[in-house]
Amino acid sequence: MTTLFDLSGTNALVTGGGTGLGASMAFGLAEAGADIALVVNRHAGSGVADRIRALGRRVVELQADLSSITAIKRVADEAREGLGTIDILVNNAGIIRRTPAVDFTEHDWDDVMAVNAKAVFFLSQAVARGMIERKRGKIINIASLLSFSGGITVPSYAASKGAVAQVTKALANEWAQYGLNVNAIAPGYMVTDNTEQIRNNPDRMKSISERIPAGRWGASDDLNGAVVFLAARASDYVNGHILTVDGGWMAR
Ligand code: NAD
Repeated sequence: MTTLFDLSGTNALVTGGGTGLGASMAFGLAEAGADIALVVNRHAGSGVADRIRALGRRVVELQADLSSITAIKRVADEAREGLGTIDILVNNAGIIRRTPAVDFTEHDWDDVMAVNAKAVFFLSQAVARGMIERKRGKIINIASLLSFSGGITVPSYAASKGAVAQVTKALANEWAQYGLNVNAIAPGYMVTDNTEQIRNNPDRMKSISERIPAGRWGASDDLNGAVVFLAARASDYVNGHILTVDGGWMAR
């Protein structure tokens, strides 16, 4: 059984790896045996690289603004130079802008779409070429409950996460034949910087909390089982799936 989930000898590139869900997933993949390339933007302070090294794993730390295509290509090259291959890609970096739709700016629209949707596609493309040559690879995109519903005052975020789900399926359709598994995780409401604003709003906090069957918000390491599964041999026949990890929210 354990070999189904053993990532020893594999290398994983995790974006947004310095904070929140990305830092937890990077650590979870390392616990399962993977060496890690961590892409951080400006928040590199979680100490996750040191915690991964303490497990005896290799870590390459890369800094990039993923809204730039040049930076995306550079990150893929540097991760390959640092680790040898990229066997697992976790497209986790993402941003959210909260403004009522009537006032939403073009700037906020473009910023969110660039990081949350465009970077997911082009980093996948940059990494997939090597995976296709080796006839093996795992790409895991971080979607959202707003891949399914529209949310409130976050129009570009909902559009971008809808795109993440659709790109996941589109890439799975093209690349499954080469031995690649492209899937997504749709987290529920998790306690990270991403949700700080709504957690500080007592009305939103109450209405969201009441709807979660599990009776609690997710912790950042609640995705670790799902990400290890989708990165490991255990998921070799899982393609184009959007796996909700949401304490039952979508079942309500
Ligand atoms: P977070 O804000 O801690 O993480 C976002 C990460 O993305 C940060 O590490 C940040 O540095 C990185 N990032 C942002 N812009 C970047 C850029 N231009 N270039 C490179 N990196 C950039 O919040 P989180 O909750 O850990 O978010 C991780 C992912 O999970 C995001 O895609 C988010 O949309 C998604 N998500 C979060 C929740 C939640 O409840 N927290 C729910 C569903 C989906």
